[in-house]
Amino acid sequence: MTHSATSSEIIAAITAVLGNAPRPVALHEPLFVGHENAYVTSCIDAGWVSSVGSFVNRFENDLAAFCGAQHAVVMVNGTCAMHAALMVSGVQAGDEVLVPALTFVATANAVVHAGAVPHFVDVEESALGVDPVALRSHLEGVALRQSGHTVNRLTGRRIRALMPVHVFGHPCRLEELAAIAQEWGLQLIEDATEALGSTVDGRPVGGRHTAVFSFNGNKIITTGGGGGVTTNDEDLYLRLKHLTTAAKQPHAWAFLHDEVGYNYRMPNLNAALGCAQLEQAPRFLAAKRALAAAYARAFTGLSGLRILPSPPGTESNYWLVTLLAENADPGWLDTTLQALHGAGLQCRPVWQPLHLLPMYHHHPRSPLPRTESLAQRIISLPSSVRLGLPLLPA
Ligand SMILES: *Cc1c(COP(=O)(O)O)cnc(C)c1O
Repeated sequence: MTHSATSSEIIAAITAVLGNAPRPVALHEPLFVGHENAYVTSCIDAGWVSSVGSFVNRFENDLAAFCGAQHAVVMVNGTCAMHAALMVSGVQAGDEVLVPALTFVATANAVVHAGAVPHFVDVEESALGVDPVALRSHLEGVALRQSGHTVNRLTGRRIRALMPVHVFGHPCRLEELAAIAQEWGLQLIEDATEALGSTVDGRPVGGRHTAVFSFNGNKIITTGGGGGVTTNDEDLYLRLKHLTTAAKQPHAWAFLHDEVGYNYRMPNLNAALGCAQLEQAPRFLAAKRALAAAYARAFTGLSGLRILPSPPGTESNYWLVTLLAENADPGWLDTTLQALHGAGLQCRPVWQPLHLLPMYHHHPRSPLPRTESLAQRIISLPSSVRLGLPLLPA
């Protein structure tokens, strides 16, 4: 087993990038240096604070334009946005939805909220996303095409959708996954909650397929709490808007509701923050990419470690800069994180793989060797926009 760099070498490399930034250095902090105050104050002054107001429309238009999508609908958080996107994509109670085992728990929770069953699949090493090769062979092993449907022959349930994740902003192998979804008749919904501004072949994530974003306080831009769906599908867009607005039919005064809807729309106050943050997104992205490049230089030459680069043809937003060990002795992760925290560097491991959590222990899954291995070898480095700004040309 190759010997990975020691904790003190790792701390030295990080310190070379961060200099004397005040300790402790957080993993990811929001930054409010644009029109946030002015826009939020204007909502309060106008009295339009809740789920109707001009900033909601503006944020939806701005988000769609930023992603190169036809439409966007913004909501109270990313988990609700994922739930809504699953429902309007036709996911029904008792269906299975393919999701990676290496993701934030909300990806699987949203599937359960839709009444469906998360079916965990393995990821690959180069971008931490769903592995198309492993997915294809897994489907060939467990799935059957039956009168136009795909059925899991072990559970008898219909497999309805695939929801890949762009982990830490690194674009997954989306076009290969889209081809598999097409072959098997699966709906494709991107969990792009971490990937605002990441690009594939020069086009932003969220511009091609239906994608879900989060604007939680720790994401690349924030609305406090918030989420959104971008789509080019007009019907899906109209369904989303309707379902997330309590399924209320437009009428000047009457309360007419035609199905069980959800109160998921983003309030105007949060959208005001979102408009101000999105204005700064290009600069935020430049800062994060500069920070990732500086980390990559600092870690060059440390044995057995590397900063995960953007896969060819893509550009990550580097929401969280990922330090990856080639292999790790048991205990390496805990020992290293302990030392990093001791040095005032709030680094984090990746999530506990979801099939190891008690509520997902008995769920359908493929073999998950890479997920389990990667979970022992990933450290997310401090990645706030603020840390990258000094690295930009004046
Ligand atoms: C943040 C996040 C979510 C959920 O977003 P919230 O706005 O916190 O509900 C879902 N999936 C992933 C991978 C995330 O990182």
